[in-house]
Amino acid sequence: MIDTEKIWLSSLAALEIEVSKANFTTWFKNTFIIREEAGTIYLGVPNEFVREWLTNKYHKNILRVLRDLYPSVRCVEYVVSTKEEASAIQQRLPSIHLQSRELPLPHITIDKRDNLNPRYTFDSFVIGPFNELAYSAAQAIIKQLGTYNPLFIYGGTGLGKTHLIQAVGNTLKNQNSEMRIFYTSAEKFSNDLVTSIQNNRLSQFKDRYRKYDLFIMDDIQFLSGKDKTQEELFHLFNILHDKGRQILFSSDKHPNYIIGLEDRLKSRFSAGMIIDVYKPEYESKVAILQQKMNENNFTISPDVIEYIASSVEGNIRELEGILNSLIMQTQLRKRPLSLQEVKNLIKNNIKPKKNVAIRDIVKIIANFYNLDDQMIYEKTRRKEIVRSRQIVMFILREDYNISYPLIGRELGGKDHTTVIHSCLKIKDELHKDSVLSQELDQIRSILNT
Ligand code: ADP
Ligand code: MG
Repeated sequence: MIDTEKIWLSSLAALEIEVSKANFTTWFKNTFIIREEAGTIYLGVPNEFVREWLTNKYHKNILRVLRDLYPSVRCVEYVVSTKEEASAIQQRLPSIHLQSRELPLPHITIDKRDNLNPRYTFDSFVIGPFNELAYSAAQAIIKQLGTYNPLFIYGGTGLGKTHLIQAVGNTLKNQNSEMRIFYTSAEKFSNDLVTSIQNNRLSQFKDRYRKYDLFIMDDIQFLSGKDKTQEELFHLFNILHDKGRQILFSSDKHPNYIIGLEDRLKSRFSAGMIIDVYKPEYESKVAILQQKMNENNFTISPDVIEYIASSVEGNIRELEGILNSLIMQTQLRKRPLSLQEVKNLIKNNIKPKKNVAIRDIVKIIANFYNLDDQMIYEKTRRKEIVRSRQIVMFILREDYNISYPLIGRELGGKDHTTVIHSCLKIKDELHKDSVLSQELDQIRSILNT
């Protein structure tokens, strides 16, 4: 038996690729299945207007996707109702029993002793230029604990940090079952600390964390502004480090750019090795898609792979999401999707690039360089301001495709040739100046969060 919510979610997923994004949100928001009775689905809709529209415009589509999933469905009735109303009535009706065609999820258990998820292994981890440094450093640690201590991996979301650091844990665990390994996130650690303090169990808390040979902490950026947690981590770090235990961190930013992180922690984090992972480039995206298809025993045509790899920006979680909907849609339709259908699917799945105001970008970049954003618009020729202004122009052009004249106008009436000159200058320096390129990475990661 499966619930009505799940049935409707699957149907919505199918409808989503048939209908334009705007129509989809307008007409299918707040719709839900109230109940099924003798082959009739009673669909709850928020108002009369939507009821008419669905009946006249989308009835065929709705009926078809429902039937694709559950052939026993014969008709659909639209009822103006809210979920709350419906569930009050539903209490008095028998629940529905439709046969689900979904495959059961693979059963994954997380070992309480180490918190590791066995799904994250190196077998399923694709290596490319975007992550090979981080991968090599991880392998060095596996060979010899303490090679880099701590090892600190940073990079944007969905780029494989959690996968990588857990794979280190899983590999070592399989090699040596005696090794005391523990994976946690900064957030969990913090919650654990708070509970321990509330229950007067701080000393047990300290003892527990101090016994590990390999201590892995994910998402360090969460520590921002959490003074008490930082203090506790600082002491824990020193004790583990002094005993030669391996410590492994991840974060979405370089430690120096985590606002509200104590300097003494920053300096401890920098004592080992800090490495970033970036977005995979085209070839790596293709390799990742191929790896995921193998895992799922699924094949898609080369032109579809090519299309996905070139149009999805680089977040691996997003790539997985697209592939999952593709698999689901293919199962529903019992045939491969055409390239056009895949295009629609992607269009409706990827969140559009955020529409950021130029002023906000200026503010973020000025902040980053500790400048007053007003200076960017003025005529000041002070070196550090000129430089930041050039970086603003470069980012507006490269990342947001804003025209040279418009950039000039928005930044206090500068000539478009000045803008072109600035962009070229930064582009040129990027090749020679690794600090600048790191700074740009940081700025971009702030802009994209
Ligand atoms: P992050 O922690 O950086 O946000 P995750 O480690 O959670 O990213 O990765 C997001 C998803 O992408 C996960 O399902 C993960 O298994 C997958 N993934 C990440 N990197 C790779 C890779 N190099 N090869 C294969 N799958 C990957
Ligand atoms: Mg993560």
